[in-house]
Amino acid sequence: MRRKIVAGNWKMNKTLSQGLDLIEEIISASSNSSVLKIIAPPFTHLTAVAEKLKSKTDFAVAAQDCHHLNSGAYTGEISADMIASTGAQYVIIGHSERRLYAGETDEILIQKLNCALASNLTPIFCIGESIEERNANTHLEKIRAQLKEALFQLSPTDFEKVIIAYEPVWAIGTGLTATSYQAQGVHDYIRTEINKKYGKGISENVTILYGGSCNAQNAKELFSCADIDGGLIGGASLKADDYTAITNSF
Ligand code: PEP
Repeated sequence: MRRKIVAGNWKMNKTLSQGLDLIEEIISASSNSSVLKIIAPPFTHLTAVAEKLKSKTDFAVAAQDCHHLNSGAYTGEISADMIASTGAQYVIIGHSERRLYAGETDEILIQKLNCALASNLTPIFCIGESIEERNANTHLEKIRAQLKEALFQLSPTDFEKVIIAYEPVWAIGTGLTATSYQAQGVHDYIRTEINKKYGKGISENVTILYGGSCNAQNAKELFSCADIDGGLIGGASLKADDYTAITNSF
């Protein structure tokens, strides 16, 4: 179901006690219950954060990744089933930092999507072009390829469960934000491609978030675009006031 969402990706920031303090601050600052606020802390904090948020219907918890297999001799890895057992309901898959630093390929990402869905986790699937692709005007081809090679392998029933995050790689953590014109252009393109593959009903129902230096100053303009349903927020999700201001930007 399409809905307004602001997801906060804490990445590798905050100790457990710092994270729990931040959650308390976010809960007390929060005033827009019509927006679903998804908090993605490090794995080590999932159970405690989920416990803190379990009575709040406008909050949910996400992991930042899951392994592409269910169990086995994979030292240091975390499966989708394990994530679901913490009380988390969402998982970010295919973040550009994972694609870059962990070498995640489309083939691996399809397996991750399937594991997440089998464990009843909702994937937040990230796609986006590099600065070179944007400058060469090949960004839409890149988006189409990322959709085709991973997400579009899903059945319509599974695809409907997924949230998409359009995150131009050149805008992540750089302070460079896509203009609302650029972001809306790609969101519209994504919805059109989904329409072609799965039909109008599904394309209009899918939630598509924008991510990439989204902050309290630019969120309102971005979220006012017809095809932008909210944001996936990195840096600005680490401060309760900034995160809350973004959740109030609809
Ligand atoms: C992200 O990492 O998903 C992200 C959007 O980061 P930032 O908001 O810091 O650009």
